[in-house]
Amino acid sequence: MSQISVAIVGGDLRFVRLSQILCDQNFNVLIYGLSHPDIPRSAHICASLDELKDIPYIIGPIPFSKDNACVFTPLCNTYIPLEQFFRVAANSFVLGSVLRPNLIEAFETHHIRYCDIMTMNEIAILNAIPTAEGAIQYAMQHSEITLHNSHCLVLGFGRCGKILAYKLQGLGAKVAVEARSTTDLAFISTYGYEAVPLNELKQHLGKFDFIFNTIPVVILNKEEIDAFNPEVVYIELASVPGGIDINYCHERGILHVPAPSLPGIVAPK
Ligand code: NAP
Repeated sequence: MSQISVAIVGGDLRFVRLSQILCDQNFNVLIYGLSHPDIPRSAHICASLDELKDIPYIIGPIPFSKDNACVFTPLCNTYIPLEQFFRVAANSFVLGSVLRPNLIEAFETHHIRYCDIMTMNEIAILNAIPTAEGAIQYAMQHSEITLHNSHCLVLGFGRCGKILAYKLQGLGAKVAVEARSTTDLAFISTYGYEAVPLNELKQHLGKFDFIFNTIPVVILNKEEIDAFNPEVVYIELASVPGGIDINYCHERGILHVPAPSLPGIVAPK
């Protein structure tokens, strides 16, 4: 049987591990924009992006791009402009991730078949497990107190928010969760967390030791930051722009911990 060719372009340690899995399953694996000693010898390291022309499947990084200018290549210094990628991927099916509207538009303008795996609940929910574990690891590293008995606020009750709240409660933290929908607020109470409606958030903010944000929209501005406990540890899980006015946060001396791409850092395998 002829081998199916799959190209991996960019990405973090998760993609190194993926290259091994695909090689073990006898795929013809091509690599570009990813450099690591663990990449299997049987994978073909491409010298140029043009070698990927007409490869049926291309797997892109998570996120696909951080700056909307180039493909995300954190493990090597190869610069892959998006326009160049789109030209080469014209006849491929591309597995992307965290595709913002302008990237989706670009895929469609170039008539490239694609899928954003983070829109698939069966992927994104499981991906929230290492995200929650990583968030807890960062919280422990950046504080001098235990999570047990601490006051934790989780902003957002989507996939990451739900799983993080559950794990924090398991560690004995006093967990409050913010949401804007009444259905979410009802579930939050049902699970034994304190329910914080978005429109009442400000009056609650002063009591938390940790705030974990999963909302990818700025909801914490000067007034809200002024209401923080000055010793709070703020952990930013959401993608750009995150949930807070970072400059004001720094100005007020609030500990702001960026925590992007946690699954690739804490549990790439
Ligand atoms: P999700 O399931 O879509 O949840 C997003 C949450 O944000 C929901 O509770 C949603 O509320 C809320 N939200 C969105 N827009 C809002 C607004 N304008 N005002 C108030 N609330 C708003 O997403 P997810 O899978 O949990 O991921 C959350 C974020 O984390 C994303 O940015 C994702 O890219 C990022 N992420 C980061 C990592 C990491 O390693 N740091 C890993 C995975 C995901 P509604 O339900 O009411 O809309």
